[in-house]
Amino acid sequence: MRKLIFVFIFVFNSIMVFSAESINLDNQDLQEYKGKKGLWTMVQSSADLNNLVKKYNITLKEVKEINDNNISFGDYNFLPYSDDYIKELESSGKKRENMASSENEFIWPIGNASTISSTFGYRNRKMHTGVDLPAQRGTAIIAVMDGRVISNHYEGGHGKTIYLEHRNNFYSRYSHNSVNLVKKGDFVKKGQIIGYVGSSGNSTGNHLHFEIRYKDVPLNPLDFLPFKEEFKESHLFKNWK
Ligand SMILES: [Zn+2]
Repeated sequence: MRKLIFVFIFVFNSIMVFSAESINLDNQDLQEYKGKKGLWTMVQSSADLNNLVKKYNITLKEVKEINDNNISFGDYNFLPYSDDYIKELESSGKKRENMASSENEFIWPIGNASTISSTFGYRNRKMHTGVDLPAQRGTAIIAVMDGRVISNHYEGGHGKTIYLEHRNNFYSRYSHNSVNLVKKGDFVKKGQIIGYVGSSGNSTGNHLHFEIRYKDVPLNPLDFLPFKEEFKESHLFKNWK
């Protein structure tokens, strides 16, 4: 019997290892969009664009292609890097953090979440459908799971908002952003930057309002995100033991 349990644990562990994938977390230097490495960059003018094209050793055609032939001046555009530029960056230590995450596991939408200013549930008789994570303006918001952008718009009191659709009828929502980078219809990878934290809409300070939904039902994101010691108090389920 003991032998059988041992074999079972061995097989189970092998499956766990097999289903874990290695993902990269985008940072301020190295980001990904449509499978290409580069950087979301504010482009002010065509002179600005020409300088960037030279700096990253790419062609104007490559920049146009990845931005759907629509470069918006005074706005963020994705600038792909040449392979040489990527090598240069990586050799200077500007690599993306690499982490293991199993295929169906969500990751945190901001890398350094350390407080929750408002938990999921009723607040003054009104339902708060997500968690509020205070963060500095401009903090990278990353996709919590592979998915598709189904909406990128200004949603009244919630300000600049992005909805992602994931497999098995799960959705995630990111609100009060200062910048939405990705566009409706884009496919995004877990760990890929999708926007920047801000305070747009009805908000008293820079924070990310983050939701996880199953179909159209908002669920407590803390039930899905990897456990964090800091949030034990606000996490009823994981506090039961
Ligand atoms: Zn909120």
